Amino acid sequence: MEIVIGKTSGFCFGVKNAVSKTIQELETTPNLYCLGELIHNKEVTDKLEQKGLTIVNTIEEVPEGASCVIRAHGITKQEYEVAKEKKISVIDLTCPKVLLIHQKIEQYAKKGYTILLYGKKEHPETKGNASFGGENCYVLEKKEDVDQAVKQIQEKGSKKIAILSQTTFGVEEFHTFTNEIQTQMPDSEILVENTICNSTKLRQKEAEEIAKTVDTMLVIGGKHSSNTKELYEVAKKQNTNTIHIETAEELKDKVFPKEKIGIIAGASTPQSAINKVVEWLQNGTE
Ligand code: SF4
Repeated sequence: MEIVIGKTSGFCFGVKNAVSKTIQELETTPNLYCLGELIHNKEVTDKLEQKGLTIVNTIEEVPEGASCVIRAHGITKQEYEVAKEKKISVIDLTCPKVLLIHQKIEQYAKKGYTILLYGKKEHPETKGNASFGGENCYVLEKKEDVDQAVKQIQEKGSKKIAILSQTTFGVEEFHTFTNEIQTQMPDSEILVENTICNSTKLRQKEAEEIAKTVDTMLVIGGKHSSNTKELYEVAKKQNTNTIHIETAEELKDKVFPKEKIGIIAGASTPQSAINKVVEWLQNGTE
């Protein structure tokens, strides 16, 4: 069996930073809260909880004056305001690339641009990004959203458009949506900022390349991880024999007779999870 592991697999800069700083913080702050799971990985989440991290789903659940970690995805403008009102000590580990999107969207909105933001509507990063654009920000996830937004913008008569995207959005969709918007609104001033993170772009490119050359492609990462799901879609287009797994245990019932197997892992997949999958493939055990 030949195993090809993508070099871009595993923690990205933003996730690495969030995990290491949270571990450091837990050494001095016993009652530390985190808004949502720090990363989409059960093993890491369990370890952090054992060290004393309390995961909550809303900022309202964090007690007055407590300390709260903001994960790499970031939060909404309104959540920052609630944190301030409750005198919560915010340990802001929002990835700098996401913070830059917040700033850009806020500036464009102030200058009167209508914002078209590509992203998964329910993803926390997209919710955070969109919150800085106010009422004139449209989130576009599917082709139908593009058509609907164009229609509404034309009805309002807005001619200044700024296009940005969630950091883990698909590169191919970014270009397809942008071409569609430019075609449908030829008379508008359209600024395009490709804010897909470089780490995402490289990883998607690598997934695509590896998938073309192997018998089976394994995409490792959380089932709720947006960037992992995107990787799966990219790889699947090149190789129908692509499987999305979260842990090595999911390989239990699968047989890979002398195959060439490709591996790529999402941005929140620890190296230990990748190693376990490789062990399993080589020895039939973790
Ligand atoms: S994928 Fe990119 S933007 Fe998102 S946390 Fe990682 S480095 Fe930051």
